[in-house]
Amino acid sequence: MTSVIDPGKIGVPKQTRRHVRTLTGYLPETDETGKEKWPRGEEKVWIDGTRGLDTDVPSITKSFVNHVHTSLARQAYNLDDFGAYQAAALSVRDDLIINWNDTQLHFTRKSPKRAYYLSLEFLMGRTFDNALLNLGLKEKYNDGMTKLGFNLEDLLEKERDAGLGNGGLGRFSGLLPGLKRKPGIANGSQLEAPDPWLEHDNPWELPRADVSYEVRFYGHSERLDGMKAIWSGGQEVLAMAYDTMVPGYDTKNTNNLRLWETGDYERALESSNSAAAITSVLYPNDHTSFGKELRLKQQYFWTAASLADIIRRFKNIDKPITEFPEYVAIQLNDTHPTLAVPELMRILLDDEDLPWDTAWNIVTNTFFFTNHTVLPEALENMLFLQAVEKKFPGDREKLARMSLIEEGFPQNVRMANLAVIGSRKVNGVAELHSELLKATIVKDFVDFYGQSKFFNVTNGITPRRWLDQCNPGLSNLISETLQIPKGVFLKDLYKLEGLLKYVDNPTFQKKWAAIKQSNKERLAHYVETTLGFKINTHAMFDVQIKRLHEYKRQTMNIFGVVHRYLTLKAMTPAERKKVNPKVVFFAGKAAPGYYIAKLTIRLIVNVARVINVDPDTKDLLSLFFLPDYSVSLAEILIPASDISQHISTAGTEASGTSNMKFCLNGGLLVGTVDGANIEIAEEVGESNVFFFGHLTPAVEDLRYQHMYHPVPIEEKCPALAQALNEISSGTFGDGGVYEPLLNTIRQNDYYLLTEDFDSYIKALALVDEAYQDRTEWIKKSISTSAKMGKFSSDRAIQDYAQECWNIESSKLT
Ligand SMILES: *Cc1c(COP(=O)(O)O)cnc(C)c1O
Repeated sequence: MTSVIDPGKIGVPKQTRRHVRTLTGYLPETDETGKEKWPRGEEKVWIDGTRGLDTDVPSITKSFVNHVHTSLARQAYNLDDFGAYQAAALSVRDDLIINWNDTQLHFTRKSPKRAYYLSLEFLMGRTFDNALLNLGLKEKYNDGMTKLGFNLEDLLEKERDAGLGNGGLGRFSGLLPGLKRKPGIANGSQLEAPDPWLEHDNPWELPRADVSYEVRFYGHSERLDGMKAIWSGGQEVLAMAYDTMVPGYDTKNTNNLRLWETGDYERALESSNSAAAITSVLYPNDHTSFGKELRLKQQYFWTAASLADIIRRFKNIDKPITEFPEYVAIQLNDTHPTLAVPELMRILLDDEDLPWDTAWNIVTNTFFFTNHTVLPEALENMLFLQAVEKKFPGDREKLARMSLIEEGFPQNVRMANLAVIGSRKVNGVAELHSELLKATIVKDFVDFYGQSKFFNVTNGITPRRWLDQCNPGLSNLISETLQIPKGVFLKDLYKLEGLLKYVDNPTFQKKWAAIKQSNKERLAHYVETTLGFKINTHAMFDVQIKRLHEYKRQTMNIFGVVHRYLTLKAMTPAERKKVNPKVVFFAGKAAPGYYIAKLTIRLIVNVARVINVDPDTKDLLSLFFLPDYSVSLAEILIPASDISQHISTAGTEASGTSNMKFCLNGGLLVGTVDGANIEIAEEVGESNVFFFGHLTPAVEDLRYQHMYHPVPIEEKCPALAQALNEISSGTFGDGGVYEPLLNTIRQNDYYLLTEDFDSYIKALALVDEAYQDRTEWIKKSISTSAKMGKFSSDRAIQDYAQECWNIESSKLT
């Protein structure tokens, strides 16, 4: 990334010209009292400003049939479930579009301050069910579809999962369409194929040929005496918008998720780089300088297009540019959109002709930066160097550390430093993570700016999807027990505390347990239909689903399974009779270039092949790696879990959000004292969480010891050494291929499995013991769910709105 941030080389996005007019008589007028008067048409569409389509059952079936005949050009006599899904989706979409348009119109007229969320990842999950739920139309569509001879639940299953990204970062947050590589499993290994989400028609995404901007790469910029700067030459690429409607719950407000794709023209003025490549791969391998350049171009492409769009909207309200931060707040989700900082600076300096200080003042009052990873690969090394440096104190220059430019050949731009310097506030995503940031990565900046620039917003999850949508049985039980409509606790999750009164109530316990049981059966059915295995649903269901990464330590879990298997094998049949059966589930994707993570998947799948058919043990221990991890798969797994694993090396998991999802659904946690696990335990009580392992402050010293005073694994942790040797010996096939993975633990053990494995196995034994007393377990389950109020995404968004954006809600109705 050599000297790319030279403002002279970065482009002027221009909106392509278009001529617009107003549809005569179709805009609301404001009367003397400031009240809006909407034109009334003959249709129900224009009444009292609360426009909308009729939503009674006959109107729904009529709209459905209309879409079958017209939009789909299909016949009523040969409609399949997919066609019916499309027609139903288009019918709901009509409602969404009307609300969405009204929302845009409302914002345009009121000109409230807007917050923009720039993110490379958005894991949206399915939209149809969410739209029905948010619009309060689920029952009516259910009736309507039944009337027409279809089953709504089957239609919901036909929707493909929209997923741009990998993990919690994306869940929390739209901006880069293209062929994401989608992993599946074949022959025990992860395979990547283009994501079908992007190949098939996605009714929830609208191409906006009318919204496009030219983005320039390369070229040169000049400023003649007394004139604005002009940037020309290089390559021009058209950025075209794709919009997805995002409905709010119990409101007509429907927001917009805007993605950008390279349009169908490019003008290579000096260079022959392909524009299509810019949006074709989400995470290009950036080990090569070509990959690095492509990645940088992607990041510039969508941040430049987004900023051009934001500036265009701001200009419509006719305020001086110095008031920009009073109307616009931009949240940078991790370092991926950091180029927005120099791009806004370039616009203000070159296009707006502002002096540097004025421009910088606007920039640093507009941006806010959320760091989502304590240890992205690049920072890990830096942290470790700091640890070493602490042991061997030698004065390094503070200035060099805080510099935007990392010296070397070639020089590199430090995106994290740029994001910190260019933002008004910087936050981490859980208490521990925010404290760690201040103590390590941004320490010098805390010394420079003071504490107040840095703060914490603990992540959250939406109770609409992660309770009501994925676990309707539980949501209904809660509503019935608390005698309040679902809408109340789905909007104020603290209301779940009311359940504490019923923890000791045997009737309630029974109902609670019955719902968990039926969710386990739903998962068992899924496994049977996808993998062909029958599962004992009375076994304990133990789940670890998340992106594959060494720091998340799926390795420790699979070595734990091997250890359990060896222990069972060594028992007499009489001893085995006393063991509680357990089923272990994994799901998750590895980054395409992440060799060790892919080996881990292969190991899990091959261990499963052996133990699931071993007659001595198969009734007591089985193991599944479910392919194609997605939000929809998580929605099946999470409500079915008795226990889930969140076992990162202390200090490495920024927050985690699946931990919150499991707890909300009454699953218990086994985990390390890390990320949001800590705050979950604070809320639900430590007695309801199975903690183990070393604490964050110990990690640095342990790593130092591993580096300079290594102890052989046979001495340090014989149980783990035995599991590794069993794998090496070929018991699970593929003898030899796992050595590179096993050696990461035998040699450097950066993630400290040898330090935590014994206490991990003890924690799992405590879990087994606790599960024996089912009534106590159910009580823990209820108490956990009841205390999850803090982890609603509504609370997190409220924190951002107050601490950063300084915006208030601007409701349509
Ligand atoms: C919640 C969620 C995640 C985040 O999981 P963590 O365990 O917190 O890393 C990742 N992917 C999907 C599909 C999710 O729903």
